Amino acid sequence: MTGWLDRAAENAHKFAQRNPRAVAAGVMFSLAGFAATAFGVASPSAPGTEIAQQIISEDVQPLPVHEQLEALAAHQLELNRSTAGRANDTADRLLSRLGVNDASAASFLRRERGVRDLLDGRVPRLFTARADESGRLKELVVRMPAERRDQITTHFTRVTLHPAGHGGWKVRREQAQLESQVRLGSGTVRNSLFTATDEAGLPDTIATQLSEMFSEEVDFHREIKKGDTFSVAYETLTADGEPITWNEGAGHLLAAEYINRGRVYQGMWVRDAMGRGAYVGMDGQPKQRSFLASPMEFSRVTSGFAMRMHPILQTMRAHQGVDYGAPVGTPVRTVGSGVVDFAGWRNGFGNVVEIQHDGDRSTLYAHLSRIDVRKGEHVEQGTRIGAVGATGWATGPHLHFEFRIRGVHQDPLQVAKATQTPMASVSRAELQQLATSARTQIAAARSMGAVRAE
Ligand SMILES: [Zn+2]
Repeated sequence: MTGWLDRAAENAHKFAQRNPRAVAAGVMFSLAGFAATAFGVASPSAPGTEIAQQIISEDVQPLPVHEQLEALAAHQLELNRSTAGRANDTADRLLSRLGVNDASAASFLRRERGVRDLLDGRVPRLFTARADESGRLKELVVRMPAERRDQITTHFTRVTLHPAGHGGWKVRREQAQLESQVRLGSGTVRNSLFTATDEAGLPDTIATQLSEMFSEEVDFHREIKKGDTFSVAYETLTADGEPITWNEGAGHLLAAEYINRGRVYQGMWVRDAMGRGAYVGMDGQPKQRSFLASPMEFSRVTSGFAMRMHPILQTMRAHQGVDYGAPVGTPVRTVGSGVVDFAGWRNGFGNVVEIQHDGDRSTLYAHLSRIDVRKGEHVEQGTRIGAVGATGWATGPHLHFEFRIRGVHQDPLQVAKATQTPMASVSRAELQQLATSARTQIAAARSMGAVRAE
């Protein structure tokens, strides 16, 4: 029950051990409950951000850490270099970008089977090389997404290459834990929320989560107004201290404020020991759940959201949804309220219903034996929309279910997990502690936005 508080305390302790100077200078920021270890400032692309960063550094005093990191970087500039992998990378191009001039390393990267995939342009990678003054490689570290898809938000793959003498190389491949950093962001709406969050340098996933957090209170399609403001604190995941470039950093929105036509809305994200999270108000009251955990009352998942051999086409394809096994005729319900966008026959999907929800989210239900709704119809959460079947390309009766946010497929099981309420296992005292730190984060982010608006 106190699992995540313990973890946060442990992380804070580790941070203190690694950064004794920073802690002495009073940089430690209470992030009770969040598994965060450091404090940073979002780097918005909008002009005038230099000023904002100065101000924020006065509020939370991250300067000592920055100075420390800069001094460290300057000191080792000639020996250490990092770069992101590029689509057209060859061993030579990559090494020259890293300032490495080493024929043995280049030929090892070119010819070795288990290493060549490091140059695969389709996988996001971060390379860090350590070389001596003549450019000979002493170490190459490659960081990329975790091999197991279910670990993609908690782990990364680290591959380390070392010279082993006589022109040989030693390769170590391991799964390591990602760490998180807290960042702040804020902005003012001029046209749309997403333009404003873009200008503020927020990742798209954080912008989506912001609109989700307040989806029951603010209609982001109709009610937002020029001059509305938002202030957020969110986490960014790092691999050995480097922000990851895949999954848009994969972090979560932690605390947020949205001021709509002068009305103030605040919320925070709470996670329990099981890793389940929910949006709650500062009073700890859950913000209304917008989606049911499953489109059927009783069902079992027979195929998840992953790469798999397609049962009919017999090729490897990404499975863009989840399959639930159930007998023909089992009622299928909409997981959220919305408007029916499509109801009818579509080749491989057979009888299919598509529903448009608030916040640019949509769901799709395929292979139905019958359809109970019509295009344009408004449906409430839990409404029966059809029944399980095996129409279209289906090997047997099942429901194929997809969840999209702004057109991008999401893992429905992750979405369901994210909208389940963990409140039962979080105590009142813990919630109060979280609210205190969330308010501090919001205030710091807000002061950043006030400066930029001037
Ligand atoms: Zn499917």
